Amino acid sequence: MARRDRSRPRIQRTCLCPLATHPDITPFPKRAWVCIFSNAAIAAHYALRQPGVDTVPGARCDRVGILDWDVHHGNGTQACVEENPQIRFCSLHQSPHYPGTGKAEERGKFENVLNLPMRAGSSIADYDPLFQEKIIPFFEEFQPDLLIVSAGYDATTGDPLAQINLQPEDFGRFTRHCLKLTRRIVFGLEGGYEYDDLARSICATIEPCL
Ligand SMILES: [Zn+2]
Repeated sequence: MARRDRSRPRIQRTCLCPLATHPDITPFPKRAWVCIFSNAAIAAHYALRQPGVDTVPGARCDRVGILDWDVHHGNGTQACVEENPQIRFCSLHQSPHYPGTGKAEERGKFENVLNLPMRAGSSIADYDPLFQEKIIPFFEEFQPDLLIVSAGYDATTGDPLAQINLQPEDFGRFTRHCLKLTRRIVFGLEGGYEYDDLARSICATIEPCL
């Protein structure tokens, strides 16, 4: 085995973590430090700089939608995109709950933010009408060239970090709603702390896309 070059520092731990909706920009020392990067916001800004996200020559990416169904408000993502008219952001999150942001009155500089606070105990019976009445119209009017989903699975009944009662198969319904908008969807894994529910929820999300 080759000896390690001790003049070069060894990487001790990775800085990258799938949790990416709370890269808090609050000045130190009140910063929460839950996340380091906002993957969804970075991906959205990156996509807008590309000549196209389609295979059609000359197609451009002018508008990106971000849907965040993680049980916590995507405060970091919102902070990164709320002043960009080319990005629309929608978050469904338990409220009141950590991080305490995401009030319905927060609409973004260009009416490009839609926050949907959910009460503890909410279930698919509460979520599904919101897709029909608010989320789909919000994005349909915008006609996004790309939809990025901050796909957190900590809103399931068994999750220890929240009190929402979604079932793993409910995420299949969410995906089917998204597919009515576009088939150009990127799913990014966010929270999810009950691992059986997490695995089943991910399968339910992917299955309608196949
Ligand atoms: Zn979460």
